[in-house]
Amino acid sequence: MSRAYNIAVLKGDGIGPEVIDSTIKVFEALLESTDLKINFKFGEAGFYCIEKYGTNLPEETISLLKQTDACLKGPMTTPQTAGAPISAAVQIRKMFDLYANVRPCRSYPNVEALKPNIDLIVVRENTEGMYSGIEYELSPGVGVALRIITREASLKVAEHAYKLASKRKKHLTYVHKGNILRLTAKIFIDAVKSLAPKYPEVKVDETHIDAMTMHLIKKPESYDVIVTTNLFGDVISDEAAQVTGSLGLAAGANIGKNYGMFEPVHGSAPKYTGQNIVNPTATILAGAMMLNYLGEKKTASKIEKAVIQVLKEGKAKTRDLGGAASTSEMSEEVAAKVRTF
Ligand code: NAD
Repeated sequence: MSRAYNIAVLKGDGIGPEVIDSTIKVFEALLESTDLKINFKFGEAGFYCIEKYGTNLPEETISLLKQTDACLKGPMTTPQTAGAPISAAVQIRKMFDLYANVRPCRSYPNVEALKPNIDLIVVRENTEGMYSGIEYELSPGVGVALRIITREASLKVAEHAYKLASKRKKHLTYVHKGNILRLTAKIFIDAVKSLAPKYPEVKVDETHIDAMTMHLIKKPESYDVIVTTNLFGDVISDEAAQVTGSLGLAAGANIGKNYGMFEPVHGSAPKYTGQNIVNPTATILAGAMMLNYLGEKKTASKIEKAVIQVLKEGKAKTRDLGGAASTSEMSEEVAAKVRTF
């Protein structure tokens, strides 16, 4: 009998409420058909909060997160004007030291991908690098953004990547731009290399970020775990998601020592808000990643199997996958399958 988990749910902006509601529907099917127990605790965060609270991450939400085992987060619109609060996701990642952003990408049955046998995970450093949030104008028209790279954060993310690789195909690729960003890249590279003796079973190689964007198109099937710094990881995980079919299928986990936040890789896609046409799968699979993180492997695998079965049957595919199903139709199909596994 599993214990009852407290899960914070932040629906977010744009298509966020649609994809989160769809995921909750799948979880309801899981709760009805297994002994899993979850108390969902809904909180407010996102662009829409700024007018109401003057911030996109209200204090009340921060204390809610602190009282929960993990967070399921919908996509949020990022404020872009100077002086506006930084992305709520970035704030949460830093606040809870969620140092590893884990983004699996794989080929699915009946989904057009560049290759049929892709199965890779991008592990992105999640708390510093180009997303440190330190930017200023040196003089009118001259801006500076700081790329902070520390040995400590690099070691934490590298360790997470080695552990994953050693449980999978035992191949780790670290990605950087050491020929140009010599000092900061060296700190990251040295940290990754220093852990290699601890994982002798893992084959380690390296690629420059520009070459990596090309290799992901040319031979994505040859990768297993890819570890890199924040900005590079953000870019190549979107690329890897598209290579395997759609951003609508890509889930992400933000993992720290004591907390985890789970979300789709995609953003709030504002132009599709309220139309019930986007793909809920990325968020549903983020829910499965959350269950794996909590140690609920059996229930996590029920969701994964249900998604694969729905894709295989091909009756309820959303537009991004070449189908005509609505968001709710696709999630209802997944929920129905969850009950049968
Ligand atoms: P986006 O991911 O929201 O959308 C890009 C395109 O991808 C969409 O136009 C659509 O064609 C496709 N897409 C995305 N999600 C889909 C889904 N579930 N099903 C089918 N197709 C889907 O990226 P954007 O337009 O660059 O960003 C919109 C907003 O989201 C911005 O404010 C951005 O900063 C924010 N964002 C937030 C997060 C996050 O909360 N973690 C992540 C990325 C972007």
